[in-house]
Amino acid sequence: NPTAPPVMANGHFATVADQGDAASYEHGVQAIDGDKEFNPNLSKYLTLEDVTPAGFNYHLISVFGSQSTGKSTLLNQLFGTQFSVMSEMERRQTTKGIWLSKNKKQADSATADGSRMADNILVMDVEGTDGRERGEDQDFERKSALFALATSEVLIVNIWEHQVGLYQGANMGLLKTVFEVNLQLFLKDKHTTHRSLLFFVIRDFIGTTPLKNLQKTLLEDLSRLWDTISKPAGLEKSTIHDYFDFQFYGLPHKGYQPDQFVSETKKLGLRFREGHRDPKRDALKGEFSEEGVFLPEYHRRIPADGFAHYAEGIWDQIVNNKDLDLPTQQELLAQFRCDEILREVMVGFDEAIIAFEDKQNEAVRLGAPEVLGGLGVAMRTARSKTVKGFETEASRYHKGVYQRKKAELEGKVDTRLKALFHGQISAAHKSGIRDFSDAVTNAVKSGQKKGGNYDFAEIVNEESKVSLEKFEAVARSTVVENTSWSNYKQELKLYEKELSEVSARLRRDEMRRLASRVERWVQSRLGESVGVEFNGLGSGRAGGGAPEDGDKPTEKAFWDRIWNVFVETVLDAERRFTDRASSFDASLEEVDVGLWRLRRKSWGVLRAKIDEEMIEGNLLLKLRENFEDKFRYDDDGVPRIWRPTDDIEGIYTRARESTLTLIPLLSRFRLAETSAAPPLDRWIGHTPSTASPADEEDLAPIGGVDEDEGKSLEEEMTIVGDSKRQELTVRFKKAADGVYVEAKRSAIGGMTQ
Ligand code: GDP
Ligand code: MG
Repeated sequence: NPTAPPVMANGHFATVADQGDAASYEHGVQAIDGDKEFNPNLSKYLTLEDVTPAGFNYHLISVFGSQSTGKSTLLNQLFGTQFSVMSEMERRQTTKGIWLSKNKKQADSATADGSRMADNILVMDVEGTDGRERGEDQDFERKSALFALATSEVLIVNIWEHQVGLYQGANMGLLKTVFEVNLQLFLKDKHTTHRSLLFFVIRDFIGTTPLKNLQKTLLEDLSRLWDTISKPAGLEKSTIHDYFDFQFYGLPHKGYQPDQFVSETKKLGLRFREGHRDPKRDALKGEFSEEGVFLPEYHRRIPADGFAHYAEGIWDQIVNNKDLDLPTQQELLAQFRCDEILREVMVGFDEAIIAFEDKQNEAVRLGAPEVLGGLGVAMRTARSKTVKGFETEASRYHKGVYQRKKAELEGKVDTRLKALFHGQISAAHKSGIRDFSDAVTNAVKSGQKKGGNYDFAEIVNEESKVSLEKFEAVARSTVVENTSWSNYKQELKLYEKELSEVSARLRRDEMRRLASRVERWVQSRLGESVGVEFNGLGSGRAGGGAPEDGDKPTEKAFWDRIWNVFVETVLDAERRFTDRASSFDASLEEVDVGLWRLRRKSWGVLRAKIDEEMIEGNLLLKLRENFEDKFRYDDDGVPRIWRPTDDIEGIYTRARESTLTLIPLLSRFRLAETSAAPPLDRWIGHTPSTASPADEEDLAPIGGVDEDEGKSLEEEMTIVGDSKRQELTVRFKKAADGVYVEAKRSAIGGMTQ
């Protein structure tokens, strides 16, 4: 028997595994079985039939009528479905529960004007009831009517012609139920514009009584019926036409007029197409019309991808005898579906974004921030794809829920994109500053290699320009338009600020390098010129000046010459420093600090040079040379040949005393001119107010300049301390004595020869 359903006689579903392919659904799907269970495979069926992606472009029709009035036969004829039909031999109820099938008739059966059946018509074949007079349980009838009304746009009412006008008949009982449950639906939803079409198909229509008359009789009966039902408060005055439109169609007897039956059902089938409200037809109140039956206002506005879930929720409410509240059901559906759609679109978002997040986190963990290539494009694409994907699917659902969920989605997406954006900016910042610093350092190094003739200011300007451009380029390319979070004004400012801080630091470094170059120069210059002065001491005619008699003024002016040489050398160095420093945009304050440091350091250099010259052995040697020079040579610089008659003792005493005056002279740095210490404090000057602790930290304290050091200028200028001085005097005298004894001997020796 090709029309027999696979499992249905016992009223149970085939298992999910059994129903894996379209073939398992050739009879459609049993949405609700004989035990009032909802079929979890409904959504799978809709997907197999390719209805799920249709949005609102689908339609639902239900059929009502007494048992065995040819309903299933009619649907199969109209829509090419394979609902099971009672066999002529057995005559027992076949349709159990509610079956659903997609229209199998294709659009090729178009009318002359090209109109064709609507897309995605879903037909529900509802189990019929036998005569009310048998007093059967009406529970399922009521529940299925409610379910059909909550979901269907068109309700086909199947009725024998000979039943028309039988007001007490079974059909009227069924319609009464339909009206009652319809009002129940509107209890919670009084302001709805929701209407349904009751499409009466009159079977075994002979034509003796014109359809018009049958239609009139039916409408009168229905109005009377409407008057008898009790209406909820507020809806007492409502009429049947507030909720229903009517259409009528007569079909000839299938058995007696098979050809007409076929051609009439074909004509009738073409009525199931999109239509629009026609005021003329309205005025006729259901007069025969060629208009398409699917008016937009009949549509329940449940997106196809949410239909199965919605239907299940509705049925659950109905089966559990709860008040059916369609707006609430639609909101619940919207929440469910919007959540589902949100999760779906987030999968795509994750695919596009997670790799970047991982990379960024890893780089941060390693402390090596990295600018991620292609991030901006990926973020922009992912965001618009995700949001658009959501909009397309979810905007068909309850507006409030949709908007709330959309905001939630944008929040989720933006939180993550914002983190990525800031990570990228931060990486651009860190690596940019590092690159800038490296670039300047390298340029300076290569400039030094090429002879030191580089323009530091230009290097810094050039590199900071490059660096800023790079930073801005990264930031600009990472911006996601139309978001509140993706701007980088603040970050750019911070970057500029740090660039100039780093520039200042690099310039200070460059100043240091310059300063130490100049200091080295000072050191070598002073080493030479101060050395010359000290060597002069040994000759007894210090400074190489012309030999003079008696008081040797050149020796007295020894420190004056040192001081002058020192001051002049440093002045020269200051000039070099200032020239070079101003070439790289150092500020006046920075130059001031540099000069101040240079003076202090130079003093240290001089002081070290003096100490080096004055170490005990050196000094004793110098004194001895000085003495011998005076003792052994006459005033014309001619070596003396001692004779016994010479006043060796006198010459010795004078020479010794003269040399001895050098010891106190050399012990203190004192200018002959003023017979005071040189004005070191004034010469160094005040500590510039802009000097930082870093500028001061490597400076040795200077007595009389750094007062809180507790060392006076007098002490700073003390080259040889008192005890050393005495020791030196004693040792010098001993050495001089030795020379004298030797001279004495040589004089006597010369005489005995
Ligand atoms: P359902 O219970 O309403 O779905 O009725 P079925 O479609 O199963 O048909 C019940 C019986 O009515 C079957 O034996 C059909 O052959 C018969 N039948 C179908 N169409 C017509 C018709 O147009 N006129 C008459 N008199 N019988 C029909
Ligand atoms: Mg049937």
